[in-house]
Amino acid sequence: MQYDMPLYRPPSEANSLIFQITLGCSWNRCLFCGMYKSKRYQVRKWEEIEKDVLEMAWLQPDTRRIFLADGDALGVETPFLIRILELLNEKFRSLERVGIYAGPTNFKDKTISNLKALRKRKLDMLYLGIETGNDDLLKRICKGAGSAEIIEAGRKALDAGLRLSTIILLGLGGVDGSFVHAKDSAKVVNAINPSFLSCLTLMLGHFSEVYETKIMGDGFKLLDKRQSLQELRWFVEDLELKGTHFGTEHASNYLPIHGDFPQDKQKILKLIDMALGDKKSGLLRPEWARGL
Ligand code: SF4
Repeated sequence: MQYDMPLYRPPSEANSLIFQITLGCSWNRCLFCGMYKSKRYQVRKWEEIEKDVLEMAWLQPDTRRIFLADGDALGVETPFLIRILELLNEKFRSLERVGIYAGPTNFKDKTISNLKALRKRKLDMLYLGIETGNDDLLKRICKGAGSAEIIEAGRKALDAGLRLSTIILLGLGGVDGSFVHAKDSAKVVNAINPSFLSCLTLMLGHFSEVYETKIMGDGFKLLDKRQSLQELRWFVEDLELKGTHFGTEHASNYLPIHGDFPQDKQKILKLIDMALGDKKSGLLRPEWARGL
């Protein structure tokens, strides 16, 4: 099997066998995201997918976990997804679960019974980038959905019995938009109550000037370390979640922490406060190590 690069997967799918059922992202318009800008979106042909599956079923018949790529593979029409899942179930007898990336636009034509039909065929985990709960920011970054649609999408997935892993992108609102980004994001996450919640921190590299001036407008300033931590504090202090695993271990973040809500909330806040009070920033990941 040959992959069409670049290929991305969530860190928690590191041990999964990956099949590309689509190439690129059907939306591909989020302005902070360059992951699939080099690809033209397409759903791969059945014959190509089948060939990959048969080859890997011969090479790795005991596979237990599978991840379906690329960017928002949940956007594939339900009957085709069912056909793919049935093939996976047939060829991998030890299959336990399948994960997939989802974008909020993918849920427009997916009913709860569609999602239940996928769940029945071992689709188990959806990875959904919320990015922010602030409607103005969602529009600016061209996410393709507002906060109400994102909440509806997340609830739909959970109501269908799927597990949901969500992502908030710290720093997206810059210095001036930091507080509302944190507070509105907490509101959206609370309304969904996902199974997993991760924070990543915006990293733009050579793209930062374009993002600062052309996309966000003059006056937009990226957060520094301390401002990023403060934003995390504002966000976490408002979280009212039950049974959600929370983590900031991603390499883009300054402070790697994790815990379960509600029981670890105070412990997490204490750690953030310690880091905020640490003048030498010894608890924080150095700038050069971010993204590695
Ligand atoms: S939906 Fe996800 S993969 Fe697609 S452009 Fe937006 S952030 Fe990137």
